[in-house]
Amino acid sequence: MRSIPTVNNDDERLEPISGTPIDLLNMPTGCPFAPRCDAAMKICIKQNCQRMEINENHAAACWVNVKNAMEGGEEA
Ligand code: SF4
Repeated sequence: MRSIPTVNNDDERLEPISGTPIDLLNMPTGCPFAPRCDAAMKICIKQNCQRMEINENHAAACWVNVKNAMEGGEEA
């Protein structure tokens, strides 16, 4: 999310995602972002997360959202 640019902010420095994109012809078992994600957990490597509705306009497929929901915290 930190690599998404905002409008009208000339001083903004975008934060690149480290590593290289995955091989789309050889997709991993778990989340395709796991090797490059600072928040990756063991489950991220083993299993891809299902899409989860955050609100009427947003959805995510990230284990962090599931973990937060299970702990009663915010979902996004
Ligand atoms: S599921 Fe979420 S926390 Fe896990 S690797 Fe993917 S983006 Fe990161």
